[in-house]
Amino acid sequence: MHLSPTVRSIAESATLLMARRCRELRAEGKDVIDLSLGEPDQDPPPFALEAARQALAENKWNKYPPVNGYLDVREAIAHKFQRDNGLTYRPEQIVVSTGAKQAIMNVIISLVGPGDEVVIPAPFWVSYAEQVRFTGATPVLVHSTLEEDYKAPIERIAAAITPRTRLLIFSSPCNPSGSVLTQAELEALAEVVRRWPDLYVISDEIYEHIVFDGQHRSFAALPGMLERTVTVNGIAKAFALTGWRIGYIGAPLWIAQAATKIQGQFTSGANGLAQRVTKACVEADPALLGGLRADFLRRRDLVLQALLKIPGWRCNRPQGAFYVLPDVSSSFNGVIRNSVDLSMHLLEHAGVSLVEGDSFGAKGTVRISYATSDDKIVAAIDRVARAVAQLG
Ligand code: GLU
Repeated sequence: MHLSPTVRSIAESATLLMARRCRELRAEGKDVIDLSLGEPDQDPPPFALEAARQALAENKWNKYPPVNGYLDVREAIAHKFQRDNGLTYRPEQIVVSTGAKQAIMNVIISLVGPGDEVVIPAPFWVSYAEQVRFTGATPVLVHSTLEEDYKAPIERIAAAITPRTRLLIFSSPCNPSGSVLTQAELEALAEVVRRWPDLYVISDEIYEHIVFDGQHRSFAALPGMLERTVTVNGIAKAFALTGWRIGYIGAPLWIAQAATKIQGQFTSGANGLAQRVTKACVEADPALLGGLRADFLRRRDLVLQALLKIPGWRCNRPQGAFYVLPDVSSSFNGVIRNSVDLSMHLLEHAGVSLVEGDSFGAKGTVRISYATSDDKIVAAIDRVARAVAQLG
């Protein structure tokens, strides 16, 4: 085996690893409840599937699409950014990709390389740090605690930025904590970014429609930030279309062009049919998503209530997305020494799949995705509570 230093230097995605283990155990006939993958269990809205059927019937979306996406799809996305986020992008500033994951990777490759630093407030979505490592740049993690609502204080973020820092990456609502930055917190961040003219920002807003109190705010809408920010979004979470694999960015033109160049060498344009579905999704009235949000709010309260049954576990109170990140360190003992051990123990002995928090930069935690049915949430936490009680 002659694996490259690159592949040896990056970890397998912790989220996808648990999804894989879960599938394997189910294939062996085991009963596993999956609270690991961030994947809405709801059906996609009928209009999205209708758009797919219509596009198939039209029989004209079968050839290579333009690398950055069909023009009318990019126009519709630009319109969505204006309507929902107050962001003015021209269609040439939009790039449509195979998932938000590829969209982010394109931008990271476009902006950083060896010697550069990328500041990532922790906890963060697992792939940010690995994608940065892939380029040879260094992820600089800025930790925060449950008591801080998993939001790194602004002074700590500011102190992590150096002349080598080229990029800051964050998500709000946050995967994995569900924390949502307030307008004042976003403004404080923008104030820090203004001090560093060569610093750019990836604002991952894939959970924008799953905010429980108040309204989602885009970082790029703050004064001076449109030219410094790449806004990431996609159709997976809000429209329950994870399998269609579409993410997109709005970015300064030069970054959109660089991302297009990178994508042209990796995958070319994103799947044509999926782009037609994307157009229907971004054109839909966001008011239609109220039902989905209400489902997640109910489930958040359900999971928080159920977790009270586990003595010693301490919980944050997420304001968005569909994750909760309890501190589970009270369950560690001589055998179960960390959250990786605990998540494997719970998978094998409780039949519940959760993701260890270490890979998200939150040691001593596990991430629970509550994007599943109420019954499964209650049954899963019940099983976890029993398995944890047996740890003594
Ligand atoms: N973003 C989802 C999650 O965090 C899907 C898996 C992944 O791509 O990481 O669970």
